Amino acid sequence: MGSTVRTVDAVVVGGGHHGLVAAAVLADAGWDVCLLEASDGVGGAVRSAELHPGFVTDLYSAFHPLAVASPILRALELDRHGLRWAHAPSVLAHPLPPDGQRAVVMHRDPEKTAAGLDEEAPGDGEAWLRLCRQWDAVSEPVLRTLFTSFPPVRGPVDLLRRIGTADALRLARFLALPVTRMGEELFHGEGGRLLLAGNAMHADIPPLAPPSGAFGWLLAMLGQEHGFPTPAGGVGELAVALARRAAAAGAEICTGQRVERIDVRGGRVVAVHTAAGLSLKVRRAVVADVSAPALYGDLLPPDAVPPRLHRDLERFEWDTPVLKVNWALDGLIPWRATEATGAGTLHVGADVAGLVRWDTDLETGVVPERPFMLFGQMSTADPARSPAGTESAWAYTHLPRGVTDAASADLLAERVDAVLEAHAPGFGDRVLARFVQRPSDLQDADPNLGGGAVNGGTAQLFQQFVFRPVPGLGRAETPVGGLYLGSAAAHPGGGVHGVCGWLAARAALGEHRRLAGPVRRRITSAALELLYRDDRSAR
Ligand SMILES: Cc1cc2nc3c(=O)[nH]c(=O)nc-3n(C[C@H](O)[C@H](O)[C@H](O)COP(=O)(O)OP(=O)(O)OC[C@H]3O[C@@H](n4cnc5c(N)ncnc54)[C@H](O)[C@@H]3O)c2cc1C
Repeated sequence: MGSTVRTVDAVVVGGGHHGLVAAAVLADAGWDVCLLEASDGVGGAVRSAELHPGFVTDLYSAFHPLAVASPILRALELDRHGLRWAHAPSVLAHPLPPDGQRAVVMHRDPEKTAAGLDEEAPGDGEAWLRLCRQWDAVSEPVLRTLFTSFPPVRGPVDLLRRIGTADALRLARFLALPVTRMGEELFHGEGGRLLLAGNAMHADIPPLAPPSGAFGWLLAMLGQEHGFPTPAGGVGELAVALARRAAAAGAEICTGQRVERIDVRGGRVVAVHTAAGLSLKVRRAVVADVSAPALYGDLLPPDAVPPRLHRDLERFEWDTPVLKVNWALDGLIPWRATEATGAGTLHVGADVAGLVRWDTDLETGVVPERPFMLFGQMSTADPARSPAGTESAWAYTHLPRGVTDAASADLLAERVDAVLEAHAPGFGDRVLARFVQRPSDLQDADPNLGGGAVNGGTAQLFQQFVFRPVPGLGRAETPVGGLYLGSAAAHPGGGVHGVCGWLAARAALGEHRRLAGPVRRRITSAALELLYRDDRSAR
């Protein structure tokens, strides 16, 4: 294809859900927007496919408490563009040790969850309900604090107004706890502790380290309030709805367009070029829904990036590699714990002590003998995923940090099957087809999933908030004028919530406001200049 040149207000690089949100928000403001996506379809890690005839598989993301809680996605009114959420009869189940004969279950109704916890440890039910009441009081300001750029102001002020300084201080301490300790402080029995710890393991934060407690608490409470829903028909329906929404606002979406270069002149972004020969001149902004190493290391000219940022990136950490296994099953899963049958999501393979041991394996280069996994009964959650009476199942677990080779992945996949067979004898007999996604498969399909990472970079404290993706402002702005990082690599990080794309679009729009825009631009660039001024110690 020959070179095509035209000019637009904004280019969005990458059509993951964040890129689609950014395109919609910019187009809503009347900007002329073009989104360029490398692969043959939009969605990035929000895509599904029929891997076995009649069985829809979510290729990456599957359960979406963050999406339904996100004010950003809600404001886009995706139901008007075809999105429907499906819920399993119960939110999640975690089979209890030693052999999964029983499971702790999070039901849609908190009272029912509490009753289950009380059966195991009297008093834990009330502890769960207390936690839910506390969540009701603080969830709005907490989410507003989390889902905004730095420094968050309205969220914390609202929180203080609602609960006062003394309680806010105690909440801050509570959120600083490792999930192991948080569980011990709240519950006597293993069930409540597992509801928190299993949820904490959706990120790669060690269970003995903060903020694993905050992460487990957030997901558990979101699950109790909203469930763990999944888009009816497959997660790809969420991406389709977002693409329809962006297109309805006027954004142009071009697939099969891998961006290979972003031009910068006089410190500002001026053009974007794709491998297929499309060149777009940019009047106002580029939003990059790409990984941090790709943006700063590959797409920008090296001299457009401050040397200090290049050095910071050497310390950038991906999250632990993912191994994903998908099954088409000719019947329901024969869990030993029958109460697990109705759950959409399961946490399988370890109790709290087991999670600590599993994490130690991951941090010390050992392929876990007994992997802990997140497991999805997708047809239980959404009957449209496979023929009646069958199950489309999905699981992922992690390889040790830095271990991504095929042999280790295949060994781990066998161990996943063994853990499932132990929890559901006869599981293997129900398998019609099995598809393994190794870390290399994930990265080949979507370069943002570097080394099989799920969250665009580790969610550990040293790479969150103002440290995400490198020490900075905790905002979407970059040292290049008019260029905004709008992927999960930016604050607030991984998960399907749309916030990274929204913050990037809002930052771009803010810098083009008639009166406040130039002032905002000057303040941001002065702050960034200070941050990335070459450090004397490194010379
Ligand atoms: C296995 C797995 C399971 C997960 N499970 C869940 C879950 O259940 N719930 C949840 O909330 N989250 C989950 N996540 C996390 C969540 O899916 C991601 O954090 C989120 O989708 C990231 O969105 P994004 O827009 O930042 O990037 P992506 O979704 O990765 O999209 C980036 C897009 O940019 C494109 N791109 C990259 N470089 C270029 C380029 N140079 N030119 C053009 N296009 C480019 C890519 O092709 C891709 O389409 C999961 C992730 C994985 C991998």
